[in-house]
Amino acid sequence: MRNRITLSAALAVIACLGGLAVTENQAQPAPLSLEPLKGGVYWVKGGSGANAGVIIGRKEVIVIDAKMTEDSARAMLAEIQKLTPNPLKYVLLTHSDGDHVNGLSAFPKGTAIIAHANTRKDMEEAFKDPKLGALQPYLPTETVTGERWLKIDGVRVDLLCFGPAHTSGDLVVYLPGQKIAFVGDLAFTGRDPLIHRRKGGTSFGLVQYLKKILALDADTFISGHSDPLTKGDIQGLLTSIEERQAKVKALIQQGKSLDEIKAAFGLTEAPGQPARRWPSLIEVIHQELTQNR
Ligand SMILES: [Zn+2]
Repeated sequence: MRNRITLSAALAVIACLGGLAVTENQAQPAPLSLEPLKGGVYWVKGGSGANAGVIIGRKEVIVIDAKMTEDSARAMLAEIQKLTPNPLKYVLLTHSDGDHVNGLSAFPKGTAIIAHANTRKDMEEAFKDPKLGALQPYLPTETVTGERWLKIDGVRVDLLCFGPAHTSGDLVVYLPGQKIAFVGDLAFTGRDPLIHRRKGGTSFGLVQYLKKILALDADTFISGHSDPLTKGDIQGLLTSIEERQAKVKALIQQGKSLDEIKAAFGLTEAPGQPARRWPSLIEVIHQELTQNR
């Protein structure tokens, strides 16, 4: 079981890193379940890809993120149907990575999908890949760039876009009545934040975003890749990024090379070891401080 979970989690990370083109043949994902939070709100644990969310109102349902595969998204829809006969009103997307959107093809064609305008652009680009052709009818039908709120059966749902961070199309789904925020990949625990520079992400933007998330009147934060987080977890993440940004900046001012800076963070690669698959947060910070974007 541990191996299955680990493999599934690893595939989700690869999906996040690689953008949208993901195929998953080998690994059995962990069983999918709907974990109750409060007031008809659930987080979706297990299955292939990132955690998702479900809001069950008296008459309608909202889903937040769409899992990584059609099979997992079908399993999620089946779990929802065990709890309610209510029809789906919206799918809300926190960003464009494949482990959050590639399961969309399990949803009925014509489903209303809301995302940041830049997430739609990323998806248009990615869905040109013939392997993802089945996803072409599932581009966001409505886009957001600032802040907007919806109501489902009287439940207020705020869609908050605070600028580029993990990607340039991040969207937080905040439920003020339940004090819950679905934050996608803006916050993890247990590993460094991921910044997709090629999707317009930025570590300095992430710091600003996390400050706005901390200012929300919420006590539960659902992340794409960890168990529910507290405000203390978000604050700890924010502090750790700011500390690393300050240290990289100071080392650059001292004239240190990137290799020396990486060594100062213990990031030296042993000779003969394969290179990391993606740049570390330290390299991302260094790029942001030394390159004009
Ligand atoms: Zn992601």
